[in-house]
Amino acid sequence: MELTLVQGDITAQQVDAVVNAANSSLLGGGGVDGAIHRRGGPEILAECRALRASRYGRGLPTGQAVATTAGLLPARWVIHTVGPVWSASEERSELLRACYRNSLAVADELGAASVAYPLISAGVYGWPVEDAVRQALTVLRATTPARVTEARLVLFDTGTYETAQQVALRLA
Ligand code: ADP
Repeated sequence: MELTLVQGDITAQQVDAVVNAANSSLLGGGGVDGAIHRRGGPEILAECRALRASRYGRGLPTGQAVATTAGLLPARWVIHTVGPVWSASEERSELLRACYRNSLAVADELGAASVAYPLISAGVYGWPVEDAVRQALTVLRATTPARVTEARLVLFDTGTYETAQQVALRLA
């Protein structure tokens, strides 16, 4: 699987599946979540509500992933995953890695060839950017999916993108 770092807006990515840094309610929020619902239109929220009414009555647990339509986005699917809130006193990085791993597994099951990820938990959820990048790249480099041939980590602003490049070089 090819792994690339891209600076940009995740809602504009021409890929088969876009990962959403959702919250467990699946009913929308700020950051990436807000942008995806705004640009993708009401069809995504309608499917999220249906998921809450069926499989995820109590919300999507942290670390898990589930797909819906991508509505009006260029992608075919949105894969919603719930990152952990950063904690200085509790080790939650396995949950963060689970988000990347489980989203990739869902993408693979759907038959997606390309997947774009945001930097999960690194916004409102407060995860330190360098470590968030390290967790993302560690999982994505270690996984060999059957169908997904490209994973893209999409960094929203220049500073985050540059930090991500440095982390990638150090891990190489
Ligand atoms: P979380 O609640 O998991 O922390 P956020 O959506 O608040 O998720 O932020 C995750 C990361 O995504 C942050 O680095 C934030 O700057 C970035 N981000 C926000 N909007 C977009 C967007 N439209 N495209 C790509 N990245 C975005």
